[in-house]
Amino acid sequence: MSLYQTVYLGLGANLNDPIDQIHHAIAALKALPDTNSEVKVSTLYSSKPMGPQDQPDYVNAVACIHTRLQPLDLLALTQKIELDLGRIRKDERWGPRTLDIDILLFGEQVLNLPTLSVPHYDMKLREFVIYPLLEIAPNLLMPDGLAIKELQNTVPLNGLTKI
Ligand code: ATP
Ligand code: MG
Ligand code: MG
Repeated sequence: MSLYQTVYLGLGANLNDPIDQIHHAIAALKALPDTNSEVKVSTLYSSKPMGPQDQPDYVNAVACIHTRLQPLDLLALTQKIELDLGRIRKDERWGPRTLDIDILLFGEQVLNLPTLSVPHYDMKLREFVIYPLLEIAPNLLMPDGLAIKELQNTVPLNGLTKI
């Protein structure tokens, strides 16, 4: 069995030249330790903000990496990338940010740790996750067996557009 796991990451940014933020994030993912430098990335998308609407639209993408990192080690490293790229954590949930990296799927694993839930708790409802994910992995299944493809029927585009 390969030690490498296939991991899908959701990227989002809406401040400080968000397209540039996403490009920097992708470069940082390629440089992660114990991770294949070939990273598959969806098209970049523009999406409407969740929660507070008095903030700029988001730029989103989904990336696929192959890694030998343990889930919590990957989380620590992706949070470091967020901070390196200038994210300041605020109390406001879903507020504007330079960069957000969420772990969507980690192989077939289901984790309910205090700091990490995988699959990402809300991914099945988010157009800016589902459509980019379908682009790079059209036949992907969730650990519970649900085909991502099926979610096209229930998740409206809500203004999502390719950039
Ligand atoms: P949302 O999770 O609804 O997209 P958010 O991405 O803005 O909101 P963050 O502030 O980035 O939330 O993260 C809050 C906490 O979520 C992190 O400190 C992290 O420990 C935890 N967390 C739990 N599951 C995950 C996951 N799958 N990917 C990333 N962070 C996660
Ligand atoms: Mg998020
Ligand atoms: Mg996050």
